[in-house]
Amino acid sequence: MKKVLFYLTLSLLCSENFAQPLVNETDVLRGSLNENRDWFDIKRYVIDVTPNYETKSIVGVVSWKAMAVKPSKQIQVDLQAPLIIDSILLWSNLKDSLSPVRLSFTRSNNIALAQIEKQITKGQQFGITIFYHGVPKEAIRPPWDGGWIWKKDANGQPWMSVACQGLGASVWYPCKDHQSDEPEEGASLTIQVPKDKNLIAIGNGRPAIEQNTVQIGNTNRFTWQVRNPINNYNIIPYIGDYVGWKETYKGLKGNLDIHYWALRSDSAKAAEQFKQVPKMLEAFEYWFGPYPFYEDGYQLVQSPHLGMEHQSAVAYGNQFKNGYLGRDLSGSGWGLKWDFIIVHESGHEWFANNITTKDIADMWVHEGFTNYSETLFTEYFYGKKAGNEYNYGIRRNIKNDIPIIGQYGVNQEGSGDMYPKGSSLLHTIRHAINNDSLFRSILTGLNTQFYHQTVTTEQVENYISLRANFGFQKVFDQYLRTIQIPVLSYHYNEKEKIFTYEWKDCVTGFNLPLHFSYLGKNYSFMPMDYQPQQRLIKEPNFNLQDFVKTIESLYYIKLAQVN
Ligand SMILES: [Zn+2]
Repeated sequence: MKKVLFYLTLSLLCSENFAQPLVNETDVLRGSLNENRDWFDIKRYVIDVTPNYETKSIVGVVSWKAMAVKPSKQIQVDLQAPLIIDSILLWSNLKDSLSPVRLSFTRSNNIALAQIEKQITKGQQFGITIFYHGVPKEAIRPPWDGGWIWKKDANGQPWMSVACQGLGASVWYPCKDHQSDEPEEGASLTIQVPKDKNLIAIGNGRPAIEQNTVQIGNTNRFTWQVRNPINNYNIIPYIGDYVGWKETYKGLKGNLDIHYWALRSDSAKAAEQFKQVPKMLEAFEYWFGPYPFYEDGYQLVQSPHLGMEHQSAVAYGNQFKNGYLGRDLSGSGWGLKWDFIIVHESGHEWFANNITTKDIADMWVHEGFTNYSETLFTEYFYGKKAGNEYNYGIRRNIKNDIPIIGQYGVNQEGSGDMYPKGSSLLHTIRHAINNDSLFRSILTGLNTQFYHQTVTTEQVENYISLRANFGFQKVFDQYLRTIQIPVLSYHYNEKEKIFTYEWKDCVTGFNLPLHFSYLGKNYSFMPMDYQPQQRLIKEPNFNLQDFVKTIESLYYIKLAQVN
């Protein structure tokens, strides 16, 4: 098919001429809910895969349980080239056990379009089974580029996994590869590996049956499952010479069982480093509420890449060092007190896995809140000052290149600023709310209001404004949809001790309240964008530079002096 180029405009609020990323037909088929995808709701995935380490190929069979929300005679199956679909079967009625019919299909642009002879009607539950095989795209630099990972551990044993966020789970198994549709009844993953190598295969959640290893001929089959909804990109196999151990965490919802996995050669180092997991759970249950997947447990699995938020099987590859591969992304020193991957990737269990955005253009809800979870973890164990310093420190990573919110409907993320700037935005809003117990109840409230749901950024923004009893819409617009940093323009009349201030370079109606304390006194500035405000500051030890620094340390804004 001829590739058509679409030029899609970024948010209307952006006045700058950003470089417009090009999107093609494949992106639109992936990123949009077209008429061949919007008529059904996925209920469950049943995945069965057999990798061949020598040929770097896989053979698989995947079944979908789904329900029609409107009638249709055509279905889109996402599976990326060069994987080959052998056949697609339809179980048109799951209630009686009629034998399946084989569907004819065409293949192009990383999808298959299958024809259904007898129309499926609204409310009908049906099944699709896809047989496929081939050599999946190999990940060269996971987790940043995705694909199947074929590695060897230090002892020469095969070590395999997948990383596919952004790229999409359809790089290795056929699915409805769109973030808005999670299987409400969960997913199971069966992995078949050769018996002679003593490999263990780990999947998300728990063993599907008590003894999850079944020997068939020369192979071992492992079956895992989650009972909760899960993102496609989070369903991941880990195969290697693993050693596992368990722990029970007494959390807010009772006993949470934790399962740790490390390569045999690294298990001693891992046992030491993974002691941070209960600390992480304690801090995050305090800030965000109960761990969202008690039914499926929590697993931390050593991975052949840096890390990823795979639900109930978090990928860990941070070399058992504190910081981010031993570095502190904030430069404040606080980032070296804890393991970045344990904290950050587990933080995603609340923001990304519990609350998932429907479109990856809104991915700041995953990465902004999770980056902020690092600040909150620091604050929980090292105090408020430490948290503030960490948060201030990560600002140095903000580029303000393009807006945080990306293009909708084309599988495109916004700026990488979604991490540090998203986090700075939340820290800014927290101080504008000026009530930490309310702020914490908003964080836990988000996790109950949108429990196991897919959402839009507007839902999250509106929830925060509603609970804070303040319209933060213009603040969200400013930070998420433009690249301008708000400027608080000020003038200080030393003789009369009058501090005059107003917003400049902001979206119309920008209304961020500024609450802070300086030399033991509380200040509340409510600048509006249309007229300068004045404050008499009767403070004998007033130092303008310190005063300005105090404001800038709590709010991601620029203060600019005018004479
Ligand atoms: Zn992340």
